[in-house]
Amino acid sequence: MRAVVSCEACGFRQEVARDIPQPTTFHLICHHCEQSLRVTVTAADIRTAEAMVRPRTPIS
Ligand SMILES: [Zn+2]
Repeated sequence: MRAVVSCEACGFRQEVARDIPQPTTFHLICHHCEQSLRVTVTAADIRTAEAMVRPRTPIS
């Protein structure tokens, strides 16, 4: 899934393009002010993200 994280310190929004298959918490360094941001991904976040992504058409 993709998540967009807003920095609490400077408001810079950055996209996280890593694969997040299950709920987790990780840290991210803001690319603008280099503050460490804590990112929490919940099961609801993952469901929401998956619902927005259309499944790829299977190759038959
Ligand atoms: Zn920042």
